[in-house]
Amino acid sequence: MIYLDHAATTPLDPAALQAMLPWLQDRVGNPASDHAWGRAARAAVEHARNQVATLLGAQPEEIVWTSGATEANNLAIKGALEFRGLRGAHLVTARTEHKSVVDSVRQLESQGLRVTWLKPDAQGLISVEQVLAALAPDTALVSLMWVNNETGVINPVEALAPLLRERGILFHVDAVQAAGKLPIDLSCTPIDLLSLSAHKLYGPQGVGALFVRKRPRARLSPQLHGGGHEQGMRSGTLPTHQIAGFGEACRIAAEQLAGEGARLSALRDRLQQRLQTALPGLYLNGHPQSRAPGILNLSFEGVEGESLRASLGDLAVSSGSACSSATREPSYVLRALGRDDELAGASLRFSLGRGTTSAEVDQAAQRVIDAVATLRRIAGSGTAAPVTPPINAHAYATPVWAAFSNPAHATALPEGAITAAAGSPAGALRLRLQAELQDGRIVRAAWQAYGCPVTLAVGEWLAAWLEGRRAGELRLTAADLRAALEISDDKAQCALLGEDAVLALERQMSLA
Ligand code: PMP
Repeated sequence: MIYLDHAATTPLDPAALQAMLPWLQDRVGNPASDHAWGRAARAAVEHARNQVATLLGAQPEEIVWTSGATEANNLAIKGALEFRGLRGAHLVTARTEHKSVVDSVRQLESQGLRVTWLKPDAQGLISVEQVLAALAPDTALVSLMWVNNETGVINPVEALAPLLRERGILFHVDAVQAAGKLPIDLSCTPIDLLSLSAHKLYGPQGVGALFVRKRPRARLSPQLHGGGHEQGMRSGTLPTHQIAGFGEACRIAAEQLAGEGARLSALRDRLQQRLQTALPGLYLNGHPQSRAPGILNLSFEGVEGESLRASLGDLAVSSGSACSSATREPSYVLRALGRDDELAGASLRFSLGRGTTSAEVDQAAQRVIDAVATLRRIAGSGTAAPVTPPINAHAYATPVWAAFSNPAHATALPEGAITAAAGSPAGALRLRLQAELQDGRIVRAAWQAYGCPVTLAVGEWLAAWLEGRRAGELRLTAADLRAALEISDDKAQCALLGEDAVLALERQMSLA
């Protein structure tokens, strides 16, 4: 197992675990309680508040504990806009923000907030000029992430902050992927609200913080009501053990920041270089210079994202395809950079971290090189033989097939074989069937698919099923396919594609 998914979550630092253990084992006390046990828990919480504030160059009383960055982003955006009042208010944000920002803003938009959604350039960057040009007299808040979680691109938030302060506009920054990785000094960077998550910097999952500036004071309406904890901004009993772990994680991150940043940048460049040297058809998703140390996002031409990830075995990376939803939606972040569905889907995000070694980087690179080469080779063998034009011929203009598994089935059939296809040219799923006939009976069948592993399994199963059948015997529904291959509800579209392909083949056979 090689873990290169640190942008999703990081392992807990052993020292952070040690800071947590007493509060999980023998110590008890609600930090809000007014007795010795409570005071001890409160002291631990305040010690951690100091540690988090120190990492940011902030004052401890400017740190508000939350359950994570999703909550911090919700509190910052909804809290600030609700306090100000939505009527006549305008907000500027980017299409490439994390969902917890995008969906919070959408929620307010549905209630009447005016929003400008900035589109990044092709390298994922939002410029200072772009933000300034989007400002209006009623702009109440700008929300922009420091580092993008998919591409690692660094936005110019430090340059932007004083310009927004001059104009009296609140500035919220989602700094989840920046904190502990890039230097942050809020004593000289006039950001008003800044979100953090512990589990992205080697702290525990389920805890985060919102920095809320005191001078000038950023005012928020609370989103959780109750006992009035955290200066009334976030009610709820504080999780002492998680907060203690978060604080310690911040202390360690501050200590390691410079050295670790340089080490990860070098490893990331090494990974990129190995892949680029060995594989043509690679695209960098992100900015070649303005990027955070540990994140590398690449699109691989000629392979399908989910098949690629499935063939990487126990290499933990993220892919830009999300084939599990009924409407397959490739990464909206990469789409915003201008990548088409195919390249956005055929992407991998490698995110390196403290435990990553150069040996692991080399092994990971080799696994990816082998997987991409294999998928491309199979795809190539499937498209090599001349075939009659499929129904939607232009869908196959580019050889982007990823026929996966039995290469024997992917070998194309001789000229004169019947070919039929299903799936739309623009869609992310396509399936092509080929049949060689003798006296109206299929003696050999082949398949090619562009899609997730379930689509590929459907193609393979159908090729075997077709052999020996005649035109009138091709009765097969999506339900039959689902039963035969135990296809789950969220992959029902793959079975429908199979049904369509068989129908199309039958039509071609009766025309032949
Ligand atoms: N913002 C960014 C940029 C993130 O990467 C994440 C985590 N994927 C979040 C917000 C949400 O953080 P949490 O998991 O703490 O809710």
